Amino acid sequence: MRLSNYFMPILRDDPKEAEIVSHKLMLRAGMIRQESAGIYSWLPLGFQVLKNIEQIVREEQNRAGAIEVLMPTIQSADLWRKSGRYDDYGKEMLRVTDRHDRDMLYGPTNEEMITDILRSGIQSYKDLPRNLYHIQWKFRDEVRPRFGIMRGREFLMKDAYSFDLSAEAGRHSYNKMFVSYLRLFDRMGLRAIPMRADTGPIGGDLSHEFLILAETGESEVHFDRDFYDMNWSEFEIDYDDDARVASVVKEFTSKYAATDEIHDQAEYEAKVPAEKRLSGRGIEVGHIFFFGTKYSEPLGCVVQDESGKSVTIHSGSYGVGISRLAGAIIEASHDDAGIIWPEAVAPFRVGLINLKSGDTETDGMCDKIYRELTNAGVSVLYDDKDDRAGGKFARMDLIGLPWQVIIGPRGLKDGIAEVKNRATGERENVPLDQIVAQFADRAPA
Ligand code: ATP
Ligand code: MG
Repeated sequence: MRLSNYFMPILRDDPKEAEIVSHKLMLRAGMIRQESAGIYSWLPLGFQVLKNIEQIVREEQNRAGAIEVLMPTIQSADLWRKSGRYDDYGKEMLRVTDRHDRDMLYGPTNEEMITDILRSGIQSYKDLPRNLYHIQWKFRDEVRPRFGIMRGREFLMKDAYSFDLSAEAGRHSYNKMFVSYLRLFDRMGLRAIPMRADTGPIGGDLSHEFLILAETGESEVHFDRDFYDMNWSEFEIDYDDDARVASVVKEFTSKYAATDEIHDQAEYEAKVPAEKRLSGRGIEVGHIFFFGTKYSEPLGCVVQDESGKSVTIHSGSYGVGISRLAGAIIEASHDDAGIIWPEAVAPFRVGLINLKSGDTETDGMCDKIYRELTNAGVSVLYDDKDDRAGGKFARMDLIGLPWQVIIGPRGLKDGIAEVKNRATGERENVPLDQIVAQFADRAPA
């Protein structure tokens, strides 16, 4: 993409309305635009990040055996009346009436609808287990939308739902999602610590929130320092291997980690030696929850087991805040100059800077490298504008692409370009004829 053809409305100054760094940087980099309180348009740069996050989540959910569907944003109130949540949900639910005076709502979540979809689509116990998910916009009329897309009213969520014949089988489905979450956050360059969460009236120990640490997080968290030393990247496991999946879950749940809501100081002190106790703030990026027959019971989601006995199906739900992650990743990865995108989610991998637009030779070489990189499948944002070099550097640092390739008349004479790593700041002179190979050969992290 040539910057001269792109749409990236950069703000020179810090927007006054932004309280936290991710909100500030997203606005300054022209990633999003607020349309009304808690409701945003995603501009090209932001939208590309959103799609990259979504794709990682999709790949990892598919790998764990979940199957993608797409449910509508607008739902009928009928199923919600059956589950009792039409009244329980309160003001967070956006209610609308259609022209026939039917009660409709903009879905804040999809347990009812997916349970009904599964109920009407399966014949027998042989059709279980199943895990269905979608990636769809939700609406919750939050009392206090804030921090940009971190706490929006309209936001993009991945929500998966598991269906099993028994609570024991359901635990394996839960475990698979647990491991899938460790993996998908890791691929985005995040360490999302699974923390024990409140299970409400259903009880049990099967609810975890995944939090990444950030000073601006809304939750207070307490956890064992040992989490830092865990093996965070070896989840190349066979999801059908129940014991192996369970062992990873066991490892990651054996250490103390809890948000303030259910934190138990006495247990914390008993389990974690003083020098290993860490407290701080965190951002909830995912939440998994096993709730058994809570929805299948009122919605009649029943199947006959092998002996012909009717069994109510056991379920769990598994959410990832896709749009929140765009902000959360920035909270975790930025410096004074701007965003530092992990390669896996970066909107472009390379920012190509032409230091002397209008100069025939420099233009010629930049155009050539741009063409060759693009042909090699490397995504490039080519700054071909005729701005001053200082402004170009600042802009490229602000939008945080992992690599900068800088080409100017001086380097051209020596046949070299400067390649800068945004994260480390390291610069290297690379012969012009090796630039393309350097990026084409090295698969993105
Ligand atoms: P929170 O405690 O932050 O209000 P929640 O517990 O109500 O979130 P869940 O129902 O667990 O949210 O939703 C799953 C995920 O969706 C959350 O882990 C979070 O990442 C994301 N999410 C929830 N509410 C919002 C919101 N208002 N804006 C952006 N993302 C959200
Ligand atoms: Mg939650």
